[in-house]
Amino acid sequence: MNPKSGNGARDRLRIAIQKSGRLAEPARALLNACGLSWRESRDRLFCYGESLPVDLLLVRDDDIPGLIRDGVCDLGVVGRNVLLEQDIALRSEGGTTAFREWRALGFGGCRLALAVPEGWAWQSPAQLGSTRIATSYPAILRQWLDGQGIAAEVVELSGSVEIAPRLGQADAICDLVSSGATLAANQLKPVMTLLESEAVLAGPAAENFGQLWDDARGELAELLLRRLDGVLRMRHSKLLMFQASREAIPSLLPLLPDAEAPTVMQVDGGDALALQALCHGAVTWQRLEELKRAGARGLLVLPVEGMLA
Ligand code: ATP
Ligand code: MG
Repeated sequence: MNPKSGNGARDRLRIAIQKSGRLAEPARALLNACGLSWRESRDRLFCYGESLPVDLLLVRDDDIPGLIRDGVCDLGVVGRNVLLEQDIALRSEGGTTAFREWRALGFGGCRLALAVPEGWAWQSPAQLGSTRIATSYPAILRQWLDGQGIAAEVVELSGSVEIAPRLGQADAICDLVSSGATLAANQLKPVMTLLESEAVLAGPAAENFGQLWDDARGELAELLLRRLDGVLRMRHSKLLMFQASREAIPSLLPLLPDAEAPTVMQVDGGDALALQALCHGAVTWQRLEELKRAGARGLLVLPVEGMLA
């Protein structure tokens, strides 16, 4: 359904996030860092946007792609795994792509991995022929198996996938893994990664927001995306300040971790220069010590509160 025709004009943007679970808090915190605030209603399903006309709908993560497809919500924060699973499933039923990833958000990292019993001598995916593989991601798994030309049986389970081999329901599993501790506790070992996942900002499939909405939502979504890009970029950014002699500068500049062109100022009443550089790479203790050895003095590392390109 085309949201432009499907849901009528709206002057408030609606974003679906997970009500509770792994992505719930980080999603709120990220939107909060973009300057959004809501009239608190933690236990209810709807949060009314106060600072901007951007409301939240608190739902189960599995419902988010469908809410976007149906135009009930304009955007959502959901795992790439969920978005891709539902996209492949929809398309395999003859539907067209209804949503897409607009931004990767840098939290909720995990991978969808194939795991086999620890006792298996794993050599190649060909070993999976005529096995049963339990998963909550049947569409992604089926597509991968088809791509590899493997005829395995996909056993769809909605939860507790990792105990399926012990229960005799399956020979192997395909499940989300972050540390691998759950697999190890069930005497399984990961052997292949099917998907690297993280939380993403999902929205309708379109080139730009202007194509989607004629009302205020287009501009609101653009504004949110600009702020989001600033927040994501500055998340690991630091402002590095120090003084140095003019001669030391050429050996100091290459040591600045992924830095933008520094501002260089004359220190009042002396020959020294003061530098300030926005660094997007990790400013580690080791790097600070290297800078000091190369002639930097009075090193100061400051967090960045806001950034608008
Ligand atoms: P809901 O009640 O909303 O359906 P859920 O149980 O399906 O919740 P969670 O377990 O909270 O979902 O996981 C949400 C998302 O977190 C996953 O879809 C995935 O993208 C991400 N994630 C990160 N690490 C892991 C992990 N180790 N196991 C499962 N999901 C993970
Ligand atoms: Mg879920």
